[in-house]
Amino acid sequence: MQFLLLSLLATALRGNSLYDCVVVGGGLIGMLSARQMKLEGRSVLLLDQGSLGAESSWAGGGILSPLYPWRYADAVSRLAAYSASHYHSLAQTLMQESGIDPEWTQSGLLMLDSDEKTQAQAWAQQFAVELQILERKSIEALEPALATQTNEALFLPSVAQLRNPRLVKALKASLQYHQIDVSEHEAANTIEQKNGRVVAVNTARRRIPTETVIITAGAWSAALLAQAGIQVEVEPVRGQMLIYKAVPELIRHIILDQGHYLIPRRDGRILIGSTLEYVGYDKSTTEQARQQLSTRAVELLPALVQYQIEKHWSGLRPGSPSGIPYIGCHADTEGLYFNCGHFRYGVILGLASVQLLHELIHGRKPILDPAPYALNATR
Ligand SMILES: Cc1cc2nc3c(=O)[nH]c(=O)nc-3n(C[C@H](O)[C@H](O)[C@H](O)COP(=O)(O)OP(=O)(O)OC[C@H]3O[C@@H](n4cnc5c(N)ncnc54)[C@H](O)[C@@H]3O)c2cc1C
Repeated sequence: MQFLLLSLLATALRGNSLYDCVVVGGGLIGMLSARQMKLEGRSVLLLDQGSLGAESSWAGGGILSPLYPWRYADAVSRLAAYSASHYHSLAQTLMQESGIDPEWTQSGLLMLDSDEKTQAQAWAQQFAVELQILERKSIEALEPALATQTNEALFLPSVAQLRNPRLVKALKASLQYHQIDVSEHEAANTIEQKNGRVVAVNTARRRIPTETVIITAGAWSAALLAQAGIQVEVEPVRGQMLIYKAVPELIRHIILDQGHYLIPRRDGRILIGSTLEYVGYDKSTTEQARQQLSTRAVELLPALVQYQIEKHWSGLRPGSPSGIPYIGCHADTEGLYFNCGHFRYGVILGLASVQLLHELIHGRKPILDPAPYALNATR
């Protein structure tokens, strides 16, 4: 009885809002956002049209760096740099809260194609990242099982990785730990506005009054935001991956060669990724991709031929122009925020983008200049 009175009082003090904030979309970005708002003392509801963390955030490789990072705008590198320096600590905290180890591992990233050495060196200097140029002997010493004819490779020893399914599982448990309200299999259909501000989120089941909405709907964000009068260029881009059930230490580093990568997990499993396909919301896997990926995997690491492909899956990346996410709000709609379009690098960019948006919401000094991520920024 006393609890009921207290909740009624809390609701009355918040006006008609049932929640201070509704986060729409429970991938990595949405779960981190909901957690962050709750840590700030806000009442939060996290909505997902399916299950939490079951889309792109589950499907990804978890490499904590863009591939060939010098090819991207500084706006991408800045988010990546902030996240890279904070992920280990987040992984440890999530493990304490959930009992699940997201397997943050500093594997290093070995790039076998080195034609862009000059650009790589300039980028490494600008962002104070250690870059090693390796000759053939050192490559062989680092990864003896690789079959490569290359005489020179680029190595970023500080690059780490996380194991996506474990990361989303740990985050989900962390939401429970923080007693954050979650509603799965409930899609937000419309964002209701009145007099230039957000007043509610509507689903097929109910109207949820609130004064702050954060759209973190990944590849589905554009339609939802368009309904609220906000245009973003975010579209699904399918990525297919394979995982081999191999043995530990067959390779020890993340290997990248001509766009394909191998990721060794702690238990010996090895991922090979990935495709980049513009096929709408079709999440099926194809025999063609399986052939292409397995051929590349065995070319790079011949020993893989004796191990079985355990799983083949796909995910829909939230593709955006130049891979620069949309982080911020719309000047005409108070209380409506978005954090979407992280494309190929939502895991590495996600931690920083959530922190940046959080500071914008609370009017604090941001970790980074938010201008490159605004709606009207050139991408
Ligand atoms: C094959 C592959 C490999 C990748 N490898 C890497 C990598 O190595 N490193 C890296 O940093 N990134 C990688 N990525 C990219 C990364 O996974 C994504 O950028 C990131 O997961 C995006 O997170 P998100 O939370 O925005 O989207 P998602 O994880 O897709 O989550 C969006 C959520 O919103 C929900 N939703 C949508 N519409 C609604 C609605 N109307 N109402 C309620 N809920 C809704 C969905 O159900 C979904 O759960 C990879 C992606 C793929 C597919």
